[in-house]
Order: sequence, then structure tokens, then C-alpha cells
Amino acid sequence: MSQFEFISKKPEDTMAFSERLGSLLQPGDVLALEGDLGAGKTTFTKGLAKGLNITRNVNSPTFTIIKEYYGRLPLYHMDVYRVEDSFEDLGFDEYFEGNGVTVVEWAHLIKEQLPEELLTIYLYLDESGSRKIVLEPKGERFEELCKEIMS
Ligand code: ADP
Ligand code: MG
Repeated sequence: MSQFEFISKKPEDTMAFSERLGSLLQPGDVLALEGDLGAGKTTFTKGLAKGLNITRNVNSPTFTIIKEYYGRLPLYHMDVYRVEDSFEDLGFDEYFEGNGVTVVEWAHLIKEQLPEELLTIYLYLDESGSRKIVLEPKGERFEELCKEIMS
């Protein structure tokens, strides 16, 4: 499985990177965001929203699980941290199969329900405070997308 890495020294770097990714997304794309609390998953999603021409402020959907935003494409922003049973069906499929882009923070917590093809993004916080961003594509579409972003 291929992996692509990017070092982000500040929030603006993360958002510039995810904004570029956001500008390349297509209907039905699913992104899984993984990383500890404060690693930058929501910050990453803010940049992504900008790349989708969403003007509303994106903030953490922790208590609502799913928030929807409308730009060039709809963005379904999920934070499944509080989903207790990995099989609990909150209608995720309808989002994954819909015409928007879905971003799932803590996606591994519902791994049984995730689509086969998706782009997983790991955010690691290191001692210096910077973030290592690792992209792990599954499927041809996301492999190509990663190559384009990293070029
Ligand atoms: P999560 O959703 O993973 O819990 P947040 O995005 O809510 O994380 O919070 C990340 C915090 O870390 C924000 O306060 C952000 O400003 C800060 N931060 C510092 N450096 C970076 C960086 N390089 N990339 C992303 N966030 C950063
Ligand atoms: Mg968050």
C-alpha cells in the first residue's frame, strides 16, 4: 500500500495542504481522518471546506456527530468519537454513497461501515509541535489523487 507524507509546521500549512486537496475532490469521495485529540483533524477539515468553496465556519461536530455544509459540493463532516458501537447504524451509507464529500474524524471507530475505497489521512503531533500528515489511499481514484497532490 502506498503512503505519501507531508510535514506541517503550523495550522496554516495544514489548511493550505487540505485546501488544495479539497479543490480536487469529487462527488462521493470519502476521507478518513485519524489522529489524537488536538492533532489537527478539524483544522484539516477547515482547509478542505475552503477548497470546496464553503464559506461557513467549520467547527467540531463532536456532539452532533454529523454536520453538513454546502459549497462547490456538499461536505458531510462527521466526528464519530462518541459512537459507542462500531456497528451502530446512523445512516452513514447514505452519506458515503451521496453526491457530497464525506470526512470522518476517528473513522476507525466505525471501520466495519466504511466504504472499500477511501483516502485515510493520519495526523501525528510530534514534540516540536509540528504535524506529520500521512496519506494512505485505497483504490485507483485516491492513488491518482495523492500523486497529483504530492506532485
Ligand atoms: P482534532 O480535531 O484532531 O482534535 P483540532 O484541529 O481541533 O484537532 O486542533 C488542533 C490544534 O492544534 C488547533 O488549535 C491548531 O491551531 C493547533 N495546531 C498547531 N500546529 C498545527 C498544525 N501544524 N496543523 C494543525 N493544527 C495545528
Ligand atoms: Mg476534531
